[in-house]
Amino acid sequence: MAINLETPKKFEQLVSQARLVAQEVFRANSRKYDLAEHTYPKELDMLAAAIDGMSESGATSGAGAGTVGGGNGAKASDDAGGNRNGSNMASLLGLIELSWGDVGLLLTMPRQGLGQAAIAAVANEEQLKRFGGKWAAMAITEPEAGSDSASIRTTAVLDGDEYVLNGEKIFVTSGDRAELVVVWASLDRSQGRAAIKSFVVERDNPGLKLDRLEHKLGIRASDTANFVLDNCRVPKENLLGSPEIEPKRGFAGVMQTFDNTRPLVAGMAIGVARACLERTHELLADAGIEVDYNAPPHSQPAAASEFIAMESDWEAARLLTLQAAWMADNKKPNSLQASMAKAKAGRTGTDTALRCLALAGSIGYGEGELLEKWARDVKILDIFEGTQQIQLLIVSRLLLGKSSAELK
Ligand SMILES: Cc1cc2nc3c(=O)[nH]c(=O)nc-3n(C[C@H](O)[C@H](O)[C@H](O)COP(=O)(O)OP(=O)(O)OC[C@H]3O[C@@H](n4cnc5c(N)ncnc54)[C@H](O)[C@@H]3O)c2cc1C
Repeated sequence: MAINLETPKKFEQLVSQARLVAQEVFRANSRKYDLAEHTYPKELDMLAAAIDGMSESGATSGAGAGTVGGGNGAKASDDAGGNRNGSNMASLLGLIELSWGDVGLLLTMPRQGLGQAAIAAVANEEQLKRFGGKWAAMAITEPEAGSDSASIRTTAVLDGDEYVLNGEKIFVTSGDRAELVVVWASLDRSQGRAAIKSFVVERDNPGLKLDRLEHKLGIRASDTANFVLDNCRVPKENLLGSPEIEPKRGFAGVMQTFDNTRPLVAGMAIGVARACLERTHELLADAGIEVDYNAPPHSQPAAASEFIAMESDWEAARLLTLQAAWMADNKKPNSLQASMAKAKAGRTGTDTALRCLALAGSIGYGEGELLEKWARDVKILDIFEGTQQIQLLIVSRLLLGKSSAELK
């Protein structure tokens, strides 16, 4: 089965619609919500309705992470030769366009959110029906558990027909605005990572207490919430997947989420980096520097030569990311490629944004251009869903066949 690098024909409409939204709504409001942190971007409400319409018509499987998933939630249709381009590819292509517009606004799109990927990865049919299509945030991180998510301390204790959750969750993207929060908690801390399960908590559950909203370097349009779970009771049917603790399966259930979400976060970095490259190309042209793709880089002005190097780096990140999403749609295990894509795109995004800013000189550093904002926004994409270092660690483990205990 060969990979075709053209945008699949059936997604051309999705890509052009996403591009239009990115231009007309996201770009148009980009600076406004960078400056007005914690203000809800009401312009996105009408978009939610439009995206629902697109989903119903089958034009998209979610322009955000809404219906993404290589698990139960994945929809895939056969293209020629048994090659599938399904919801992972559709979401990725849509996200790249929207992130070109504004990644902060993308992260706060109503009814999207990475929590849906967590639901799609492990939910059963009944749960998919109950929670599908809702705006869901994902709460893993705690004050004492970031990269090492196996060390979370939040507990879930069965009491009659309900689980009682206690603990603290920090840095929850869309935590204040979402309808649901998918919370990772341990059924039995003495049994290690196998006992960690995900639980769907309604945002208005009185036991889920908002502590504060973060003030951030970038993606200021997106709310980032810290919570205390104080005897937070949820129906036992809200535990996603199996309630059994299976030591052999270890972390496999909840961790599957990341195989779906990492290529998407990589796609966001690719979108922001492309925005930087396009604007820098224009600014270079305004300064009289033309990039000549037919001449060797060393024969061109240093800025043009650097620009060509950045574009080729960007292309490598893009292709790795497309591969990871394509593998998910074709039901091929993609943990290695998902982490490779996230590591490569996260670093490329950050490097590209900062280099473009520098190439544009003082114009790049000022608020008159969005370059300075993109340089701030892009950094998070190399941090959440697993930092650069953690992705490299995962890639090393998978390539060397080492367990997490053997290679830390
Ligand atoms: C804006 C924002 C939004 C977020 N959204 C969410 C969300 O929606 N849901 C959620 O659950 N979390 C979210 N997070 C949390 C994010 O996933 C964590 O910040 C991230 O996983 C890193 O954890 P940490 O901050 O505790 O850093 P640490 O784990 O303490 O790491 C600190 C540094 O050490 C490095 N490091 C750690 N371990 C190793 C190792 N073994 N080898 C080499 N280097 C290592 C890391 O790469 C990093 O550079 C968000 C964070 C931010 C800033």
